[in-house]
Amino acid sequence: MVPLEKIVALCKRRGFIYPGSEIYGGLGGTWDYGPFGVELKNNIKREFWKSIVYKRDDVVGLDAAIMMNPQVWVASGHVAAFTDPLIECKICHTRLRADQREEIEDHEKTHKGKKGQWTEPKKFNLLVEAKLGVIEDSKQKIYLRGEITQGVHVNFKNVLDSTRMQIPFGIAQIGKAFRNEITPGNFTFRSREFEQMELQFYVNPKEADKWFEYWKGERMKWYQSLFNDQTKLSFHQHEKLVHYAKKAFDINYDGREMEGIHLRADWDLSRHSKYSGQDLSYLDSETGGKYIPWIVETSGGVDRTFLFLLMDAYKEDGDRVFLKLNPKIAPHKVAVFPLVKNKPDLVELAHQIYKNLKLETNLTTIWDDRGNIGKRYFSQDEIGTPWCVTVDFQSLEDSSVTIRDRDTTKQERVKIEDLLSYFNLKLK
Ligand code: ATP
Repeated sequence: MVPLEKIVALCKRRGFIYPGSEIYGGLGGTWDYGPFGVELKNNIKREFWKSIVYKRDDVVGLDAAIMMNPQVWVASGHVAAFTDPLIECKICHTRLRADQREEIEDHEKTHKGKKGQWTEPKKFNLLVEAKLGVIEDSKQKIYLRGEITQGVHVNFKNVLDSTRMQIPFGIAQIGKAFRNEITPGNFTFRSREFEQMELQFYVNPKEADKWFEYWKGERMKWYQSLFNDQTKLSFHQHEKLVHYAKKAFDINYDGREMEGIHLRADWDLSRHSKYSGQDLSYLDSETGGKYIPWIVETSGGVDRTFLFLLMDAYKEDGDRVFLKLNPKIAPHKVAVFPLVKNKPDLVELAHQIYKNLKLETNLTTIWDDRGNIGKRYFSQDEIGTPWCVTVDFQSLEDSSVTIRDRDTTKQERVKIEDLLSYFNLKLK
């Protein structure tokens, strides 16, 4: 297992992730994604969207506001849930009410005799508060969303009324969430600002079990398609469920939660019906029956997936460090180099190839002419570029180039005119 420090160092050195507002000494639990990081992150989100929205007929997308009417959080239970003094286990971040002596003792047993290290009891609210309004005395207290889920549920009726979706159907969303985590840490694993990628799938309660199993399987397959070491991916079933959940599983990477899959029953829509006064039940046009749909939720963390994908991809081969990322999500697919910098014909040809490939936006091609070829390969390996194209003297004679593979370091000659089809085939 690669030590986390190596990942943190690589992220800083190669522009994947920097500490948030670093030149001012940072802000605990916040991180900024650099030039290569934003590409990798966008690619993860794009793959999610492709699999959940574009490839299906029964899911549509949504992008709700981060700031919402505070009543939303009263209805969802977030406001009430966080008014008691709580303590948090520093080992696994379980939170318990400070007066739950039995639970505390039980919990310490789960760490095999190791005494739970608890934070001081605090009255705290996980929701990050903000003030909205321009006049100092009449500012309204609002919350930055603590989960992106509620933005979807409050739009359930809008989506029904404005599209042709009928149950069973889902709404997908990707976006930022904010939590006053008491103990942020493990790099981006537990941040105060993070991004989620979610599906809320609305079903007839009679079919809830079937859909729950279906989405568990689909989401696992999606992660399996991106990770090299699939033995590290597993399901973890929650024994203790929050009061409204009927079932809860996590998809873990190496024993740590990356995505939660929950059967939320009718909790969200019932509560929003009650608190908003709007009827959010569903009229089944075939049977004429009315019911509150149940919800199967799949809630993944973009930042955790990013972090675990780096841990999975990080490889050392002697002095060489390379990221064995699936080419679909690698920040750049292709790098183009002229063998030498001082031969105008050669540089010109390399530049032409670079320009042409760059027009193909799915290849996100980059140029490098610094140092020698060996250094350039090493540099691309560290950011996970799967293919490097070198234009050399032979290229001027026979219109072919060398393509070097990141994982095997093997090289092959390919005609310039075949480059596009070569890469597109690899990316299929
Ligand atoms: P945990 O038990 O680790 O606090 P959770 O069960 O509260 O997580 P959910 O509310 O189910 O998490 O959120 C869904 C996903 O959002 C998680 O699986 C995780 O990937 C991501 N996530 C949650 N909290 C954080 C955080 N503080 N930092 C980064 N990602 C997070």
